[in-house]
Amino acid sequence: MRFRRNAPLDTGQVRDARGRSMGPGGVAVGGGGLGLVGLIIYILISVLSNGGASGAGLPPQLAPLAEQRVSVNDTPGDIDQNCKTGQDANERTDCRIVAVVNSVQKFWNGVFERSKRQYMYSDTVFFADQMDTGCGTADSQVGPFYCPRDKLVYIDLGFFDDLQSRFGVGSSAFVQAYVIAHEYGHHVQDQLGLFEKLGSSNETGPESLSVRTELQADCYAGVWAAHAVETQLVEELTQADINDGLDAAAAIGDDRIQQQTQGQVNPETWTHGSSEQRRRWFSRGYEQGKPAVCDTFSGSI
Ligand SMILES: [Zn+2]
Repeated sequence: MRFRRNAPLDTGQVRDARGRSMGPGGVAVGGGGLGLVGLIIYILISVLSNGGASGAGLPPQLAPLAEQRVSVNDTPGDIDQNCKTGQDANERTDCRIVAVVNSVQKFWNGVFERSKRQYMYSDTVFFADQMDTGCGTADSQVGPFYCPRDKLVYIDLGFFDDLQSRFGVGSSAFVQAYVIAHEYGHHVQDQLGLFEKLGSSNETGPESLSVRTELQADCYAGVWAAHAVETQLVEELTQADINDGLDAAAAIGDDRIQQQTQGQVNPETWTHGSSEQRRRWFSRGYEQGKPAVCDTFSGSI
């Protein structure tokens, strides 16, 4: 995945809160009893909490990872200064996320426009360690998420290192893009009124509303990928990039994560979908390139 060297980046769509520390404190996000909206904010690694009421804590065998974190490949700084063009996006993770946010939103803005709707631009917030959000206090271990209450996407960029150390997913540019595009998929769902329609639900399992919601976000990520080059920010997206995305989708499937962390698979507690489901719905969006093919709410998924 390569960005156009001279494409201007709009850092106005990203808020950099990495320099702000919240100090010690508990994690309000997580645990059992969350409604569907609550589940949405558990993005990629929610199953690590074992579906129980123990909060978003890691299982004991993974806990030391928090201390092992290596820093992302760039130092936090002023993104307005550092991230001006596609060339910066080719060189720095934070600028790359800015470029992806720009591209994803440009794409969806066009889709909404063509169907005579108004797309609402929504910012991504970079944070480090902990952050107060409209959905409660988040810490890095919940992974990137979309908060429907304040309409923002939150990410600790250290997540990409975790992806590598926990799940063996290489943090390639497109894997990062897939994660962001998935979160904006939730923002699109939000604007289409999905969360109000679904209401509060704690349902889990391979055909549950939660999994259907997540798979649609994966499918939307695929749809964006199909059109990424048309947004002018992305210059090239190769089959190897797409394969990276598929590998990532598989690596964070509920069954794979459960097998890895619990040594067994419990489909009835799935919230995001199996490796196979996640790959399949991302592929479907990518191959067909139309949001309409992302109807994960009818029939078997
Ligand atoms: Zn999600």
